[in-house]
Amino acid sequence: MVVDRIITGGTLVTAEGSASGAIAIDDGRIVAVGDAENLPDAEETVDATGQFVIPGAVDVHVHVDDMFSVDSYETATGAAAAGGTTTYIDFAWQAWDGDLSLWDEPGTLLEGVERKREKGADALVDYGLHGAITREDPAVFDELADVIDAGVTSFKMFTTYEHGLSNGFMRRAMEHIAEEGAVGVFHTEDDSVVEELTARFKEEGKGDPEWYPKSRPDYVEAMAADDAVRMAKETGLQYYGIHTSSRAAADVIDSYREDGSQIRAETCTHYCTLDDSVFEEMGNLPMIAPPIRKPDDIEAMFEYIRSGTLDVVSTDHCGYRLDQKEVDNWWDSAFGANALQVSLPVFYDEAVNRRGLDPALVVEVMCTNPARTFGLEGKGTLEPGTDADVVLFDPEETYTIDPADNHSVSEFSIYEGRELQGKVTKTFVRGELVAADGEIVGESGHGEFVSREVPEWGPAGHTRTAE
Ligand SMILES: [Zn+2]
Repeated sequence: MVVDRIITGGTLVTAEGSASGAIAIDDGRIVAVGDAENLPDAEETVDATGQFVIPGAVDVHVHVDDMFSVDSYETATGAAAAGGTTTYIDFAWQAWDGDLSLWDEPGTLLEGVERKREKGADALVDYGLHGAITREDPAVFDELADVIDAGVTSFKMFTTYEHGLSNGFMRRAMEHIAEEGAVGVFHTEDDSVVEELTARFKEEGKGDPEWYPKSRPDYVEAMAADDAVRMAKETGLQYYGIHTSSRAAADVIDSYREDGSQIRAETCTHYCTLDDSVFEEMGNLPMIAPPIRKPDDIEAMFEYIRSGTLDVVSTDHCGYRLDQKEVDNWWDSAFGANALQVSLPVFYDEAVNRRGLDPALVVEVMCTNPARTFGLEGKGTLEPGTDADVVLFDPEETYTIDPADNHSVSEFSIYEGRELQGKVTKTFVRGELVAADGEIVGESGHGEFVSREVPEWGPAGHTRTAE
């Protein structure tokens, strides 16, 4: 047997740990892992000497080509590929009618799935979709089974914004989603408190970006998380809390987690690496909801990543242009920032170089856990039989983040000027090289929609043998 490609000479890093070894790839899949001499002959050999060979990152919280991102699938997946992310999960929106909405009239969730799949034709890396429930119309419950059949097995709800839901409707939705065995994904901030604070700051002319985090304080996130997690437990739902930003909210997740089987949560790279001094330094650019918080909240993120309470690190990538950010008052700014291209190296550098974490833990929270949590069976590992989504990462190379390198349409980076050690050098998606040294070398359209199964969560916790 002659396989397509062998990657040899590097250190294989998985969620279980690190070991030198080689992998054989054929027809888009990993077909063997082990000592190079025991692997079949290959048409091409990739020398990974001095590099880590890791599963491609799986980013389960990404916004592309809708009201929360002007990135197209081509630009966003280019950023993903250059940064070592081989699969992301974007959102399929149930159309609603409102100021933030792109639509004039309400629509169905299935239509939202179709709209995003059409946009995905230009993808370079693989992608999946969460369904976003944006209206209190019980008709959506009749759609759930069809949406799940379409490979969309998780449903996002907001407790805030104009497309937010009341606790009453959310609880009912939880029952229906739990009945299907699917996953509920929650943005939790208490809406009425945020609205009141925002209105008051507007009235008082507190438009300086340093007031922004005060409009969405940590306890507001914790309050709404507490309500949502309680209801999820009562309804038997698999609960996934997105973008946990504060110690207060992470404490809530931790308090309900018990064996961790039903309550899971993510944080994002920016909550692990930046504190609220960024508002003075960068104005509205790092305005993200929930806000970037205090140094102690960063410490909490790492405490809970180490303990396993925070399962996943994502980006919450929103591709916005500078003119959507450079406005006089913070409340007129777009909320969100691009990060797909730098999330893996920024988080790696903070976690491993600055805090001494095991690189295997980075793989666990950025590759393996997100894939397992969302039913991406063939992703997030280097196990034979899975997709050959493989990234070469040079742990020695140093560089400085420069937004001029962005593949995203965003002309800025909230990490601009940050010096990193560790760089993505090659990204393979199902065996094809799609990015090398920051440049796109693959064909747009190579990326495919990944139809997901309903995941069955076992007890969570670390898979590493060490620590
Ligand atoms: Zn988001």
